[in-house]
Amino acid sequence: MPTTIPTLPIAQIMPFSAIEEERPVLLVTSAPAWDAVADRLHLPITARVDVTEATLAHWDALFQGAEDAAVVYAVGGGLAVDAAKYVAANRGLPLICLPTALSVDAFLTTSSGIRRDGCVVYIPTKAPQTVILDWGVLGAAPPSIRAAGICDLLSIATGCWDWRFAHERVQNPPGMAYIPWVEEIAQAILRASLDCAEAAGRGDPDGLKTLYDCLALEVQLCNQIGHSRPEEGSEHYFAYAAEDRLGHGLPHGDLVGPGILIAAERQGQERAALERALRACHIPLHTIPADVVAATLAGLPDYCRTHNLPYSRAHEP
Ligand SMILES: [Zn+2]
Repeated sequence: MPTTIPTLPIAQIMPFSAIEEERPVLLVTSAPAWDAVADRLHLPITARVDVTEATLAHWDALFQGAEDAAVVYAVGGGLAVDAAKYVAANRGLPLICLPTALSVDAFLTTSSGIRRDGCVVYIPTKAPQTVILDWGVLGAAPPSIRAAGICDLLSIATGCWDWRFAHERVQNPPGMAYIPWVEEIAQAILRASLDCAEAAGRGDPDGLKTLYDCLALEVQLCNQIGHSRPEEGSEHYFAYAAEDRLGHGLPHGDLVGPGILIAAERQGQERAALERALRACHIPLHTIPADVVAATLAGLPDYCRTHNLPYSRAHEP
């Protein structure tokens, strides 16, 4: 059982151009995201940090100085927000998050994903205090990342399957016992995600709002139980292993999207609806070269055991 149950950030729906800030801002961003929205913002920036990697060594090197900052702003996607959560937690500063695409669930969670020893581990940091949603910005994001957060929702299909599979084999680790009502809620979130995929992928504000609702509910469901098994299984393990083999990062959706289809097939699940939703959200499904996919799959059972990942279909040949 978790000892702390985090809450979601407050979401403020407003244009970025209407943000009023007087405190000195430590801006954590990435160049393409900043270039897309800089002219809408008038923040009193005391230091700007561009994040290119998700490692503690990189973050520790980036966040030197800027001692006068009184608030951290994350402007961008998962990489920027994960680094911003780390520096805000370390310095005890409030964090405001301005997502430029609904590309991941990271702007709602209390941990940051880092690459360590060939895998992704989540270290406790802090959730943003406020997430500001500007439908105009989110709807105009590049198509392949605009609604890529759908991957952390469609992964419920394969993650829940693995959670139940591990339960049937009496392989769930302590603290991760299968809870039927949690899966029922997760499956309802999955259905809503499938339904909103087309509108969200188009950048339609109602579709993006539903996508945001689904991400928020998925994150809070995981907060309540203290782990992510309802949405993290074989498909994420494949993504972590493929990224390790590639030797460089790819957007989360480029890795998890194909992972969902591969995992669903291995689990004997129907893939058509999942694939339709991924395509509606413009998730690139063929960025990982075919030989890397094949080698990743061949090595996946060993990879899962080496990195001590909770039991799943990916642990088996
Ligand atoms: Zn994910």
